Amino acid sequence: MTSLSPVLKQATGVVAARGEGALIFDEEGRRHLDFTAGIGVTSTGHCHPRVVAAAQEQVGKIIHAQYTTVMHRPLLDLTERMGEVLPAGLDRMFFANSGSEAVEAALRLVRQATGRPNVVVFHGGFHGRTVAAASMTTSGTRFRSGFSPLMPGVVVSPFPDPTHYGWSREEATRFALEQLDYTLQTISAPADTAAFVVEPVLGEGGYVPASTEFLAGLRERADRHGILLVLDEVQTGWGRTGKFWGHDHFDGRPDVLVTAKGLASGFPLSGIAASEELMAKAWPGSQGGTYGANAVACAAALATLDVIKDEGLVHNAAVRGEQLRAGLEQVASAHGRITDVRGLGLMLGCEFRDADGRPDGAAASAAQQEAARRGLLLLTCGAWGQVVRFIPALVVDDQLVDEALSVWEEAV
Ligand code: PLP
Repeated sequence: MTSLSPVLKQATGVVAARGEGALIFDEEGRRHLDFTAGIGVTSTGHCHPRVVAAAQEQVGKIIHAQYTTVMHRPLLDLTERMGEVLPAGLDRMFFANSGSEAVEAALRLVRQATGRPNVVVFHGGFHGRTVAAASMTTSGTRFRSGFSPLMPGVVVSPFPDPTHYGWSREEATRFALEQLDYTLQTISAPADTAAFVVEPVLGEGGYVPASTEFLAGLRERADRHGILLVLDEVQTGWGRTGKFWGHDHFDGRPDVLVTAKGLASGFPLSGIAASEELMAKAWPGSQGGTYGANAVACAAALATLDVIKDEGLVHNAAVRGEQLRAGLEQVASAHGRITDVRGLGLMLGCEFRDADGRPDGAAASAAQQEAARRGLLLLTCGAWGQVVRFIPALVVDDQLVDEALSVWEEAV
């Protein structure tokens, strides 16, 4: 008999038997409030009836038709309907299976399109675990250690993180843009820089939102130097932040947008969007894969889009996010070691610091474990694991938010 690899870290010990909305029921029939949503994936809730029906119907028609050989209807329909939600000018899509694959697709595209070798990424960013995506990831050494050498051509510049040095958002933004200019002068000249790759809100890096001025600064420098701006919206897309895309909070305008997670309510699907002109610069045959744009996943994505629109889930994420934030702030004010509540919409985190003001991963983990014992599933993030994050399905209602808050209060 074999058992699971020891490198797997299991946060809650729960074995799920079934899920419904923002709830999971385990094999003993115990009910859990799922404020992890499969790491921000099941945006429409577990097993939304319309997603289930769309997937079931598609399974009976065709499951897999590899798209470089034979097209299928869900892919054609999804490609067309992405126009309803993508930023203006991004009218070409390429689909893959996971966030990491989509990040790598974006990397290939920007290098081919510009002929330049480097990408500038931002401190605390997480872009995945495949080797190229891990090379662009700086949200913790655990994602990079032990399998070096990583991919060359990645240059790291500061993200505007006000929490780390106790700065205001303006100070952090000014510092990050000054450092970026310095980076372009001393490490990666514009003529060597294909793209800036950034998350609108640091995800695994600790739920730190960027700022309007920072994204505007990136856009301005990108336009000035012929550098492309890639927004990694894997975690921040599909309503998670209370607007459809995370960058909608900041008026950012990407050249390439990377999406995954909430896109298909749990079926593996990801993609990149770019303009027709830019996408045409990808060399034929350089993008693709056996399983990309699976027909059942595309059918689930179409249903996801309908549910998000018909049930007003982006608005619900904003409203429930405010309720959750207010409650988390109240708990934090009564608990000295939670020093910050931050994030956007239903992507919120509580940071733990010790008595000396240092990030306290042990305290965050203890609170997360205690919450799990009391039936509230949560995850941690941040380089030290010091942030407990709250990312329920976007269908969560006010009663479940209140229930989660009272469990959280008891747990901390
Ligand atoms: N990019 C961001 C911003 C993410 O949050 C993640 C995953 O958490 C990824 C990329 C990688 O996605 P995946 O785990 O599907 O490969």
